[in-house]
Amino acid sequence: MISKAVAVAAVMFFAALGLVVSQSIPKIDWPVHDPLRPLPPVVDPGPAGPPAPAPADAVVLFDGKSLAGWEDAKGTPAKWKIENGYMEVAAKAGSVQTKKGFGDCQLHVEWASPAEVKGDDQGRGNSGVFLMNIYEVQVLDSYNNKTYADGAAASIYGQYPPLVNACRKPGEWQTYDIVFHRPRFDKDGALLAPARMTVFHNGILVHDNDVLTGPTAHKARPPYKMHADKLPIGLQDHGNPVRYRNIWVRELS
Ligand code: MG
Repeated sequence: MISKAVAVAAVMFFAALGLVVSQSIPKIDWPVHDPLRPLPPVVDPGPAGPPAPAPADAVVLFDGKSLAGWEDAKGTPAKWKIENGYMEVAAKAGSVQTKKGFGDCQLHVEWASPAEVKGDDQGRGNSGVFLMNIYEVQVLDSYNNKTYADGAAASIYGQYPPLVNACRKPGEWQTYDIVFHRPRFDKDGALLAPARMTVFHNGILVHDNDVLTGPTAHKARPPYKMHADKLPIGLQDHGNPVRYRNIWVRELS
């Protein structure tokens, strides 16, 4: 009986410890969008390859032909342009999102910023991949385009710059491979565990299990707010004709 009691106490102790560890949200030393925050070093990822084949257990979200799995924020059919195997942000069409919801997942996205360079800073090739429509991995033409570090291509917007700037040239295809763990909430909405992300940009590690401080936002780091376990994956219309192709997701259990 004693040994069982000890074992139970040990389990409870480590469970409590795990809870404490999982609850902690890191303090980021830099204010949001601080222009003094060091920019990630540039690493040439090498040339773009052909579209990465979707694994057998993946859900194909965009195959280059149909936007059937996508809608806009109002729930009406997505109006982005489709041609030559990609979709492209269309003027005033708004952001698009998957009809289906996802939580923990491995997400593969291919994107290209406009070949014709227009604008600079956040105005050049801006879009974004939103996990759960809340947590943004920034899409931006960061090739010879300076902006604040936590808003560069592959940044977790407003929170974490990528470890390196692995951007290809404007118009060239680029890949994001994202491992996402959604936040956990108890039934009353208290945060049990924050969201985490690991991201590869053009095959190069740019986020190694980063712990998100909450939803990503412009000029703010708002706290977590309880939400559903599964929500759509979104692609941002930021007014630039960014292209996407070959998007697939593997749900993690
Ligand atoms: Mg964006």
